[in-house]
Amino acid sequence: MREIGSRLVIATHNSGKLREIRALMEPFGIECVGAAELDLPEPEETGTTFVDNADLKARQAADLSGLPTLADDSGLAVDALGGRPGIFSARWAEDETGKRDWLRAMERVWRETEAQGPDAGHDAHFVCALALAWPEDGQAESFEGRVHGTLVWPPRGERGFGYDPMFVPAGGQQTFGEMDPEQKHAISHRADAFRKLVGWLKA
Ligand code: IMP
Repeated sequence: MREIGSRLVIATHNSGKLREIRALMEPFGIECVGAAELDLPEPEETGTTFVDNADLKARQAADLSGLPTLADDSGLAVDALGGRPGIFSARWAEDETGKRDWLRAMERVWRETEAQGPDAGHDAHFVCALALAWPEDGQAESFEGRVHGTLVWPPRGERGFGYDPMFVPAGGQQTFGEMDPEQKHAISHRADAFRKLVGWLKA
C-alpha cells in the first residue's frame, strides 16, 4: 500500500465528475487537479475491461504529470447480452457523426435484449472501475463498484444521464432517471467503488 500525498490528478475532462471527486477527497486533505487544467490528452480506451481502461487512463496521466492519478471508467452490462454494451456504453449512443443520442442507445439495448427471447430476462448492472496510479514505478490499485437492477421500457424520468431512465435498481420502483439524485448517489456503482477506495485510503 502507498500514500497518495496531498495532490491528486483526476484523469477526466468531465467537470461534473471532477466536482464530485473533489468533494469526496476533501475530507482526506487531498487537493484534486483536473486533466484539463494540466492540458493532459484524453487517451484512446483500448482496454477490454472497465478496470483496464481506468488503469490505462490513470497510468498515462500519472506518467505525464509526475503525480499520483485517479481515473474511472463505467458503463451498463446487460445479462441477456453477455455484458454488452459494457465498455462500449458511450459508443452505443454515437451516431455517424459521433454525436451522442441516449434515446438511440437505450432503444438499441432494449431491442437487442428483447431479441434474445422471453426467457433471457432484463437483469442488468452498472459497473464503475476506479484506478489509482503512481508515476515512475507504474504501481496501481483498482476498485470496482456495481449496482444490480432491471431494465424497463419505455424509459422514465428526466433526471440522471445515459441509461438512467431505463434502469430500476434492485428492490426499487423508480428508475435512476426518476430518482432524487442524492438517492441514486447513495446506492450507485460509483458510490460502491468510492466506498472501496475510501476504505483503502483509511486502512
Ligand atoms: P464514462 O465512464 O464516462 O466513459 O461513461 C461511460 C458511459 O456509461 C456513459 O456515457 C453512460 O452511457 C454509461 N453510464 C455510466 N454510468 C452511468 C450512470 O450512472 N447512469 C447511466 N449511464 C451511465
